[in-house]
Formats: sequence, structure tokens, C-alpha cells
Amino acid sequence: MVRRNSGFANLKAGYLFPEVSRRSREYAVSHPDAKIISLSIGNTTEPLTSHISKAMSDYALALATPEGYSGYGDEQGLTALRQKIAETFYAGMAEADEVFVSDGAKCDIARIQTLFGCRTPVAVQDPAYPVYVDGSVLIGAAGAYKNGRYKGLTYLPCTPENGFLPDFSKIKKNSLIYFCSPNNPTGYTSTKEELQQLVDFAKGHGCIIIFDAAYAQFIRTPGLPKTIFEISGARDCAVEINSFSKPAGFTGVRLGWSVIPKTLKFADGSLVIKDWSRVMTTLFNGASNIAQHGGLAALDSDGLVEMKKIIDYYLENVKTIHNALDGDNFKKAGVQIYSTGNSPYLWVRFPGYKSWSIFDKILDECRIVTTPGSGFGATGESFLRFSSFGHHESVNEACVRLSHLKL
Ligand SMILES: *Cc1c(COP(=O)(O)O)cnc(C)c1O
Repeated sequence: MVRRNSGFANLKAGYLFPEVSRRSREYAVSHPDAKIISLSIGNTTEPLTSHISKAMSDYALALATPEGYSGYGDEQGLTALRQKIAETFYAGMAEADEVFVSDGAKCDIARIQTLFGCRTPVAVQDPAYPVYVDGSVLIGAAGAYKNGRYKGLTYLPCTPENGFLPDFSKIKKNSLIYFCSPNNPTGYTSTKEELQQLVDFAKGHGCIIIFDAAYAQFIRTPGLPKTIFEISGARDCAVEINSFSKPAGFTGVRLGWSVIPKTLKFADGSLVIKDWSRVMTTLFNGASNIAQHGGLAALDSDGLVEMKKIIDYYLENVKTIHNALDGDNFKKAGVQIYSTGNSPYLWVRFPGYKSWSIFDKILDECRIVTTPGSGFGATGESFLRFSSFGHHESVNEACVRLSHLKL
């Protein structure tokens, strides 16, 4: 018999979102008339603009013609799209040939671990987007699971008490550091000074930062960095992962990118970008050419205006939910809301409750699905994440229900 990858046995049971779905399904079955509203998973709800869908359908139709047909393209992505990404988001900070187009950020986060293997120490924020941890477990870098922790990982608690700025001094030398800003799930958006501390630490200790900027376009506060490459020294110690999913509604279309500076090196002096190029050409064969034409439309002048509008729409929901959670019933219970207005998520602490118990209570009494903070890491205990992805009407309705919740 063939041996199972031992990483799978190490994955802790009950992945967060399946458990959230299981409990909501169970509730729906026992309450068939309840109109359940989800403020849970980070999935976009508003349709693509016709401008983007037309670009994709025109391209798809042309594939049926001899002139319009194309087969495999460059594995790193269409040159025009790499240029557009570089000039739109990284002018003066990264070049088009440092941009690699992909089928999404999660896929890149999983693939990038092959560059470092199982013997590179890994540090993650706690709480964190689950793939940083689970991907490290699968590749064998996380070690055994005991008492809610993987022994081989360095957890960096990010709490209201430390201003969501973790203590970098706990990170081992020569580590990979996963860092996400604006953060999922806390919504916290790091300042330039904070990211400078991170970069200085990484440079001083031989670390590489994997910076997840999937929500960068949600940043509205002037001066907050939208890419790690705004930080001096980052080109020597960081890569960036990004995506069209959240800002342009491409969660189902699938399109993302990574930026690997030509100046970034491994311990032996070889270039990270060379190996990444090898991964993208060997284990991946390029993003869908249809999706890439959608991406080009999303970044032309009309597309960028539409992108801002759709993000404003979700940020409007953030305000609505914030107001509801600021109501007297929540205030009296000492509920604390953490939201910077620069992310689609609100991170909310319910003193005296465990995450799953307040999750069940809100499901039961308001028929609203949220996400238990504890599912993102031990430090998330007693928090819920509220997501603003939803139609205004259903978010408004959810907020009316929340105003009646008795805590
Ligand atoms: C949604 C999300 C992603 C995944 O993006 P895809 O491009 O759809 O794979 C990556 N990172 C964070 C933090 C996310 O919330």
C-alpha cells in the first residue's frame, strides 16, 4: 500500500468554514421557515460589471475563430497584464517581469511553500487566514499538533492589547513570516511605521516575509501602505501575494498575482525569482486567458472606477454593521468592535462568551451566520468576524435583527 503524506494526518480536524456550514445547515433543517442571513464567509456577492464580463465573453467567442484562438500562453501571464499590474499598483516599486499572474492568491500561497520546503521555520499571525497554517502543515513544516498549537510554528498574537502589532522578537532566525494587511480576520491595517519594523526585523534576522495584500484596495485612510514594497528595504526580504478576487469580484473567475523582487535571495545567494519562475512553469501552466482578459478590463480606466465603486458598496455595509453593533444592547454587554474602515471585516469581542457559543446564540436568535474568531487561531477566542460581503438589503435586515439581540 502507498503511504499517506503524514501532513494530512497532522491537519487538525474540523476546518473552520465546513463547521460553520454544518451548523447553519442544521439550523436551517430544524427551522425551515427561518430566513438565514450570512455575514460569514469572505465571498463576494455583487455581480461583475458588464464591462468586465463583456471583455471575457468577447475573448471567449473569438477563441472559436482562427484569428482569435490561442493555446498555452506564457506561464507567467500575459505581458500586457503584467505591465498593467506593475504600473497600476507598483509604479516605481516593482517591474512587470517581477509580476507573476496566477489562478488566485490562495493557490500562490500554497505553491510558494514548495520554495522553502519543510525545514524552514514559519511564523504566522494569530489569528490568521487558515491557509498559512494548513499549507505549512501539509508540507511538513508545522510539526505536531498539541493543545491547540503546532509545535513547529511561531505564533504571533495580534490583539487589541498590543494594537495588533505582534512581538517580532519571538520569530526564529531565517524564518518565513506570513503577514496580512489589511488583515483577515481582524481587519487591522498596518501603518508604514509598523511595516517598517517588520521589514527591519526580517532583514536583520535573515527572514522572508510573505505579504498577503488581498484587501489592499479596501484601504481608504490616506497614507496607509497598500503594498509591502512601499517600505524601504522590502525588496530584499519580501514577496507579495495579491488577487482580483475581493476588489473585482473574481472569486469565481480566479485571477491573482505574486510579486517577487529580483533582489530577493536565498541563504546560498541564489535568486528566489528564478525558482519561483520554475515553480510557475513546472507546477502551474498559466492562468486562464479568458480570466486574464477580464483582469485587463478590471484595470483599465473604466475598470478602476468600477472597482472603487464596488468596494465602496461593501464598505458602506461595514458602516451599517458597525452602527448596529454599537447599539445599546451590545454596549451594555461590553462588546468591543475593531474596524478601521479599510477592510471588509469587523472583528468583534464578546466578553464572557466563547466564539462558538456567541456564534450559536446569534444564529439561534437572529438567524445570522457569523464566523467564530477561534477558528482563525487561539487568540481569536471570544471574538466573531462579521463580513460585509452581502447585498445592502440583507445586511440592513441583519442589522435590524441584531438590534433586538439580548446579551
Ligand atoms: C480571500 C483571500 C485570499 C484568497 O484569494 P483567491 O485569490 O480567491 O485565492 C487570500 N488571502 C486572504 C487574506 C483572503 O482573505
